[in-house]
Amino acid sequence: METADHAARSRPPLTATACAECLEAVSKPVVNLRGEALCSACAADYYAPCAACGGLVPRDEALDRDGASRCPACDLKAANVAPEDVPEEAEVDELIAEYVALHAEEKRVKDRMEEIKERLKIAASVRQRVANAVTLRGEGGAIKCSYRPVWKCDEEKVAALEGALDAGRFAALFQRSVKYAPVKESLEKLFSGEAGADADLKKLVGAAVERQEQATLTVVRPKKSPASSS
Ligand SMILES: [Zn+2]
Ligand SMILES: [Zn+2]
Repeated sequence: METADHAARSRPPLTATACAECLEAVSKPVVNLRGEALCSACAADYYAPCAACGGLVPRDEALDRDGASRCPACDLKAANVAPEDVPEEAEVDELIAEYVALHAEEKRVKDRMEEIKERLKIAASVRQRVANAVTLRGEGGAIKCSYRPVWKCDEEKVAALEGALDAGRFAALFQRSVKYAPVKESLEKLFSGEAGADADLKKLVGAAVERQEQATLTVVRPKKSPASSS
């Protein structure tokens, strides 16, 4: 009885608190962000105030960004990220793996598409053109290969033409710039035959220019079946 009374009296008073770190009783505890009491020594050794909310955050949990050390909650706010939007580590892992795989796949797909384009251009080159285009049709869809002319000038030869042709004629066929740029429509017209241009002119100009073509591939979207009602 007396022993129990003595024990009760020697127990630390209810107001006294134990430090969450060193477990020593503290008379004037400081409180960390979790609401735990700390002695001033432990607070100084293991904690630092958050730059935003001022709460004591364990040094190993504080996040440094833009020269400020913040608690995790304030760091999320500083990064303008909602806590529920932050992916779990497992998801980050999956995303990295998927992105890396897709990146490799993207390159493979691009390279393969270039190879296929070249093969299809060859296939189109030996087929009948309709309106200057070839449509390749197969089980998996249709690809249209359309052609547009590209004129290239031989700088020296066009320069020589300037003296050989009358100024008006020359100006109609060639634009003067830093380089000679072919006037596509005029050259097409001259060499199409429908202009009835004389053979000498064609011969002269033809020696200075070279007509090439660029092929463009576009996927032909399947047409919607008209009014497939009922
Ligand atoms: Zn302590
Ligand atoms: Zn904070």
